[in-house]
Amino acid sequence: MPEKIYLSSPHMGGKEMDFIKEAFDTNWIAPLGPNVNNFEKELCTYTGASHAAVLTSGTAAIHLGLILAGVKQGDEVICQSFTFAASANPIIYCGAKPVFVDSEPDTWNMCPEALKEAILDRKKQTGKYPAAVIPVHLYGMPAKIDEICTICDSYRIPVIEDAAEALGSHINGIKCGTYGNFAVLSFNGNKIITTSGGGALIGESEKDIAKARFLATQARDNAPHYEHSHIGYNYRMSNIAAGIGRGQLLVLDSHIQKRRSNFEFYKTAFSDIESISFLDEPAGYFSNHWLTTIIVDEEKTGISRDDIRLRLEEHNIESRPLWKPMHMQPVFKDCPYYGSNVCEDLFKCGLCLPSGSNLKEQDLVRIAGIVREFFV
Ligand SMILES: *Cc1c(COP(=O)(O)O)cnc(C)c1O
Repeated sequence: MPEKIYLSSPHMGGKEMDFIKEAFDTNWIAPLGPNVNNFEKELCTYTGASHAAVLTSGTAAIHLGLILAGVKQGDEVICQSFTFAASANPIIYCGAKPVFVDSEPDTWNMCPEALKEAILDRKKQTGKYPAAVIPVHLYGMPAKIDEICTICDSYRIPVIEDAAEALGSHINGIKCGTYGNFAVLSFNGNKIITTSGGGALIGESEKDIAKARFLATQARDNAPHYEHSHIGYNYRMSNIAAGIGRGQLLVLDSHIQKRRSNFEFYKTAFSDIESISFLDEPAGYFSNHWLTTIIVDEEKTGISRDDIRLRLEEHNIESRPLWKPMHMQPVFKDCPYYGSNVCEDLFKCGLCLPSGSNLKEQDLVRIAGIVREFFV
C-alpha cells in the first residue's frame, strides 16, 4: 500500500517546542501562564481583533459567544445550514432552537436574502426576532459578511462569525473574525494551525471577552474562598497548548500560501476536465483555501463524486464529501429551514481533496493522476 495521504494533517513549524520548553523550564504547566496571554495578544495582532480569549475548543468558543450575546432558553438562533455540526450544537447547549439558512452560490456561505426572509418569518411565527445569527466562512472562503452584518444590525441581532476554518482569510484586507460582535477560531488538529485541540473567542468588547475568560474558568468570583454567582465552565486553554499555538502562528502565513498553491495546482491539473469545477474568490475576497473543494458534474461524463472518492480511497488517499447540511441531519430534522437547494446540491456533488500544508509535490501529482485516469 502506498503511504497514506490525509485530507489535512497537523504541520509543525519547528518553534513550537521552544515555547513548550520555556513553559516546562519555568513550571508554567498550569495554571494559565505567559503563553496563554501572549497567544491571545498575538492572535489580536494577526487578525486585527481587539480582544481574544483562548479556549479548549472552537465549540466552547461558540457556546460562550452565544451566552455573551444573551441567548437564553427558548430563544431561536439562526445558523448557516451548510457547516460542521459544531456551529449549531452549542445553540442546543443554551436551550435555544436552531433555525437553518441556505447558502448562496458565490461563496457557498449564508445567503443574505434567505437570512432576511428567515428573520422576518420567525418574527411573524413567534412574535420575536432570533437572538443571534451564526454565519460561517466555510473552507476558508469569506461569507458575504458585510451584507449579513447590515441586515442583522438593522434588527439589532448580534452576529457570531464562525471563522473556525478561515483564520487569515479576508475581504479587502479586513480579516474574517472582525466583522461580527464575536467570532470563533478553531485550532483543532485538522485546521490550518493547531494547538492539538483548542479555539478562541475574539471580539471588540474588552468587557465581554473578560467575561468569557471568567465563565471559562468556572465563573469564580473575586474572593479568597471559592465563591460563585454564575454557572461556569472549564473551557480555558492550557499554557502548554498555547505554546504550540504561538509556534504555529509563526508559520500561519506560509501555511496559507501552501494551501492556496494546492488549490492552484488542482485547478491547473483539472483545467481540461469539463465536469470538474472550482469555487473562485469573488473580487476583493481572499480565502486561506483551508481545503480545496471540487464540484463533480456526473451528468457530463457519468463519473460521480463517489466514483472519485472511492478510487482515491483504494489508493490510500483520504477525500471527503462536502459538509452535509444541518437541516438534513437526523438530529436537526425538525428545525425550520429557509432556502432553495443550494447547499443540498453542493453536498450531493462536492468533494474535499487532500489539502494539507505539508503535502509534497509528488503527493499532489499522485492524487491528480488518479483523478485524471477517469477522464483521459
Ligand atoms: C472545526 C470547526 C468548528 C469547531 O471547532 P473545534 O475546535 O473542533 O471545537 C466549528 N465550526 C466549524 C465550521 C469548524 O470547521
